[in-house]
Formats: sequence, C-alpha cells, structure tokens
Amino acid sequence: MKKKFTKKDLVEFKKLLIKRKGEITENIDHISEDTLKKSQKEAAGDISGYTYHMADVATDNYDREFSLGLASNERELLYELDDALKKIDEGAFGVCEECKSLITKVRLRAVPYARLCVKCQEKKEKR
Ligand SMILES: [Zn+2]
Repeated sequence: MKKKFTKKDLVEFKKLLIKRKGEITENIDHISEDTLKKSQKEAAGDISGYTYHMADVATDNYDREFSLGLASNERELLYELDDALKKIDEGAFGVCEECKSLITKVRLRAVPYARLCVKCQEKKEKR
C-alpha cells in the first residue's frame, strides 16, 4: 500500500478541512448569539410582559440546553479539524493512529479528520 498522499491530494483535503472549519465557526457564532440573546432577554426581565405557561418555560430551557450542547460538540469538531490541518503540515495526515496504515481517500473525503482507518474504527466500536 502507498504510504503517502500526493501533494495534490493533500491540497484537496486541506481545502476540505478549511471549508468545514468555516461552516462550523459560522454555526457556533449563530448558536452563541441566539443563546446569548435569549439569556439577556430573560435577565432584563422581559418575561413580565408575557403570560408564561410553565410548559413554555420548560421548552425554552430545553432549547437553550440543546443549543449549548450543540455548540460544545461543534467546538470539539473544530479541534479535530485543527489537529488534522496540523497533521497535513507535519506530513502525518491520513495515517491511522492504530495500525499506521493509510486511511482510504473515500473515508477521508467523508470524514477528513478521521484518526483511524475503517478496520481499526470498527474494532474500537466493537470493544
Ligand atoms: Zn488502522
């Protein structure tokens, strides 16, 4: 098996990673803004103007928790993408961390920040 990706491949993956990063950063900005606005509204006592049913409040809290959870997932993903970009510069991109073989391009196109090849990933999930 080929041990390294060509420069052209790496450029393609780098573009992919940067694109994903941009999308996620935008998402996080959007989520944080939304969450912040809601909190500020409540802190300012805007509630007094409305007749709030308990159910509405509960849904609202749930929404916010959901958004915050989502933001933290996205942040984790952002970290993974950064790490993958670093690996491209170090020449270690696309190498399985378990068996050191090259991860397939098909897999990397779907998950450009994959750390394991399909085989090792499956093994890990079975454990
Ligand atoms: Zn592997």
